[in-house]
Amino acid sequence: MADDLIVIRDIPFYSLCEHHLLPFFGKVHLAYIPRQNKVSGFSAITRLVDIFSRRLQIQERLTRQIANALMQFLDPRGVLVIVDAQQLCVSMRGTKKDSVRTVTRATRGEISPDCLPLLGFKTS
Ligand SMILES: [Zn+2]
Repeated sequence: MADDLIVIRDIPFYSLCEHHLLPFFGKVHLAYIPRQNKVSGFSAITRLVDIFSRRLQIQERLTRQIANALMQFLDPRGVLVIVDAQQLCVSMRGTKKDSVRTVTRATRGEISPDCLPLLGFKTS
């Protein structure tokens, strides 16, 4: 099962928080288990990330929408999406919070959190 896992890391995105109209931005990491030979080019997946980030968003919904779209678009056995972002509305609330990052995760289908280390995150 882990042998046909496809991992794509560090897809950059820029979005705008719909609550405060302030930017949030960071990286999207994802892993999916393809069904048969159905894999996709990197550019199609980065385009998909662009489509959902270039609108007023909240990070949790962005994460879910990317996961749902990947399920539709790739019809994989499972997908795991992580959005690791800096939100200016968080950073601006007080000083020395530039390094605060918000990490959200969505999983769909049969994918195990065992792949988290491949995405640069601890299993927990
Ligand atoms: Zn905000």
